[in-house]
Amino acid sequence: MMQMPGYCFGVTGWPLAQTLSPLLHNTGFQALDFPGVMFAWPVKLADLELFVNSVRLLNIRGCCITIPHKIAIMPLLDEICEDARNVGAVNTLFWRDGKLCGDNTDVMGFLAPLEAKSSFNGQVLLLGAGGAARAVCAGLKSLGLKDVFITSKSNKRQAQLAEKYAFTSVEWEKRYSLEAGLIINATPLGMLGENIGVSPYDFSHYPGKTPGIAYDLVYNPLETLFLANAAGHGWECISGLEMFYWQANAQFMRWTGDALPVASRLALEDALGLDI
Ligand code: NAP
Repeated sequence: MMQMPGYCFGVTGWPLAQTLSPLLHNTGFQALDFPGVMFAWPVKLADLELFVNSVRLLNIRGCCITIPHKIAIMPLLDEICEDARNVGAVNTLFWRDGKLCGDNTDVMGFLAPLEAKSSFNGQVLLLGAGGAARAVCAGLKSLGLKDVFITSKSNKRQAQLAEKYAFTSVEWEKRYSLEAGLIINATPLGMLGENIGVSPYDFSHYPGKTPGIAYDLVYNPLETLFLANAAGHGWECISGLEMFYWQANAQFMRWTGDALPVASRLALEDALGLDI
């Protein structure tokens, strides 16, 4: 019997303790009979150039790039896509016309779940100004939003980010003075570990009358205090699972031309302990 040629994919970062990317993509490859397999490759920053050379030599078909390589990998590639240029970081490798390209699918991943939600008053409060917040800002800019207010507890990084996108930097202590219709948690507060059970925002202090949309980027656990508190005050909620799923969907489409099948979504929900 003739064997189909197989395609090799990977996810790389350091350390790479827990990654859900192989589960999502391998489930997708199998469900669609696509002859691909994804491996997890922990690679130290000092070995990144060697790693990219290996991707070229072995014709690795695609790769997810995670912390701490998202910025350092950029000069090692042949082309950088627009979203990755805007964000200043790459989370996906793929080949186009013989060139090794870098994209950032976090922007699409952030935007996709918003499409299914109600409209809001156009004002956004972004809590956190780190790597994920950069993709959020690029997404908000692409929607033509101008009233975006960025804050982080140390008040260190938000001014630079706000300036880049012509948004506004706000002191952490002043976050309850804004009637934002979309409030986004891009801090690690609420995450499994030392930050579990902590929230960057108490919706009982929201100064407006109309509840809006609360969007948490944290996906482990799925039910964070931020979202539980928002829902309790009548806010529509988006969990971090959505952004994670839709950024992976954009990667899968780059590599296979198909959307992730429903089996991948179910595998992700199962892994995150959602009742299905
Ligand atoms: P990061 O680069 O470390 O940035 C974290 C931001 O949160 C920084 O602005 C930091 O403040 C702020 N922060 C940290 N501790 C805080 C605290 N105790 N109180 C208030 N603010 C605090 O992290 P990241 O990569 O942006 O990730 C942020 C979160 O998003 C993580 O939970 C990550 O898992 C999640 N995420 C989810 C997805 C998804 O697909 N759903 C994708 C990417 C990231 P300073 O600016 O002052 O340092």
